[in-house]
Amino acid sequence: MSFRKIRIILLLLILVLVAGMTYWEGMLVRSWLRPLEVSIYAVNGDGTDAGAAYIAQLSDESFQEIAAFFDQQAARHRLKKLPPARIKLAGEIRQAPPAPPGGERGVLISLLWSLKMRYYAFHATPFWENVGRIRLFVVYHEGEDGKPLQHSLGLRKGLVGVVHAFAKTEQSAQNNIVITHELLHTLGASDKYDAQGQPVYPDGFAHPDEGERYPQHAAEIMAGRIAVRPDRAIIPANLAACAVGPKTAYEIGW
Ligand SMILES: [Zn+2]
Repeated sequence: MSFRKIRIILLLLILVLVAGMTYWEGMLVRSWLRPLEVSIYAVNGDGTDAGAAYIAQLSDESFQEIAAFFDQQAARHRLKKLPPARIKLAGEIRQAPPAPPGGERGVLISLLWSLKMRYYAFHATPFWENVGRIRLFVVYHEGEDGKPLQHSLGLRKGLVGVVHAFAKTEQSAQNNIVITHELLHTLGASDKYDAQGQPVYPDGFAHPDEGERYPQHAAEIMAGRIAVRPDRAIIPANLAACAVGPKTAYEIGW
């Protein structure tokens, strides 16, 4: 056999292994037989001292709101109790994750970015420690008032996500909402808001079967906002004002 052939066979083997591993890991996490385990890696997005200081004060405790949200919501949707979710701050990473493709996204461009993202995750974090764990790369920015951050992205295949967050204490509750939203994407949940950002009825409603349709009092986490009128939705203050709706629960296997 020529060297070229051996090389192609080896490459194919690696691809099959990666695909098999991804599939198996996804099945394992979504079977809910084990506790949900999440590693959070912080990235100083602007490279500033303020960003470094914000990251330095983070601890596991900063993300426990998210674990509590999962435990509470699982108890609402599942007959059988789940073991408590484990969310830990796994460390800081110097290199920023690859930028997602902007504008029109073709299938090929999305696939290429997804491969880049997984290579980055493989390269930047310990391998064995993260088998069966979701890895979220939270990029902290100082941000400018009224200027939205880059879009966050949760990848279903590969159990990895990139979250853009604010390096500000007063934004911590909002950061945890965005982190939870992307975490749920990696578990297979879909977005539930329309082009205007308005929650879609009934899937984007936290409690679509209870009481009056408007105003709602909680945000469905994949819709991101509380529908108070057919044409108006407000941002929830924290995760306590969010819930996993019936459709999201179904999508993630609850
Ligand atoms: Zn989303």
